[in-house]
Amino acid sequence: MADFLRDLFRAMPKAELHMHLDGALEVKTAIELMTGRAPDAKAPDGGGTECPKNAAGGAFRAQSYEALYRRLVIDGPLATQAALLGRYDLPIELLQSEEALERVTDDLLRAKAADRVRYCEIRWAPALHCAGGLGVRRVVESVARATKRACARYGILARLIVVGMRFHAPRENVSMLRQAAEADARGLLAAADLAGPEAAHPDPTVQQPFFDAARRLGLGLTLHCGELPSSADAIRRCVLRVAPDRIAHGSGAAADESLCALLAERGIRLDLCPTSNIQAGLYADYADFPVATLFRRGVPVSISTDSPVISGLTLSEEYYRTAAGGRLGPAELWAINLASLDSIFAEDAVKRALKAEFRAWAHGVSELCPDASRPD
Ligand SMILES: [Zn+2]
Repeated sequence: MADFLRDLFRAMPKAELHMHLDGALEVKTAIELMTGRAPDAKAPDGGGTECPKNAAGGAFRAQSYEALYRRLVIDGPLATQAALLGRYDLPIELLQSEEALERVTDDLLRAKAADRVRYCEIRWAPALHCAGGLGVRRVVESVARATKRACARYGILARLIVVGMRFHAPRENVSMLRQAAEADARGLLAAADLAGPEAAHPDPTVQQPFFDAARRLGLGLTLHCGELPSSADAIRRCVLRVAPDRIAHGSGAAADESLCALLAERGIRLDLCPTSNIQAGLYADYADFPVATLFRRGVPVSISTDSPVISGLTLSEEYYRTAAGGRLGPAELWAINLASLDSIFAEDAVKRALKAEFRAWAHGVSELCPDASRPD
């Protein structure tokens, strides 16, 4: 049964709405960026022991392939969300050139296409990639260029979301957004997001000028909020005062039935990442993660990996683990996948085409669409 479910989730066309570019830096690419050459497959440590200069002029510390893997990929629960966010430090340090940004974007879309993700949204904070001298415009143009190319090469659709940071002043985030909007993003820039350590910066409403600027620029709006099980009040405040189109995480809403009703009524989708939240020590396991509760209360949800390399899994595996431990069957997970297309930051024609494609694929697959496969 386990193999059947894994194969089913691998084969089904999927949408992934919550995914960070700097959480997708593969170990072999990290070594290439550090050493200027591909890792040596024959060397026991992958050959990742050299330490030339990084793009910002500083030297990287020598590390073995295995040490680098351990530094990038989480393989057990961490103590806090802050510890998980610390895993982004090295990727951000390495992704400071156009070449590096293009490379990680290509790697990400290739891996997603291989996992049958048909549509994804890539988010990242351009301001964190300017230490090597790139401005926000060039950062956005590099990622957009690579996205366009990779989408054509691998047969996948994507849109971009630029992220403002909670620890940056609102005027800095507004400035980033304006520069991003001026860049030649090839029609792919679709939304703005706010991210960063929530415990240290609990009130997102201080970033209202950033949210207003996103709306003025005609962008969709999402923000990271409410990962903690006890964060229902923060999510309610965010819904009522910021009124985002979607919320990244927001699983804490499950503790409050009236908040669930509010999210359902307003159609605000929670882009959940079960593994990432479990790794951050916020939930004990998949049975503890409240996706089933939220779904059955009518809250729009989607399922994503957050960071495919840092969290160390594909979207198919995320679905499988959710099914295995999260009290949801394949038909419910398929319904979540299909409905998530209603909230993507893409044009209506793209939504319609993807929905038609997904429905056509699932027609007659009785585990996903039990009603459709019944004889009339
Ligand atoms: Zn995230």
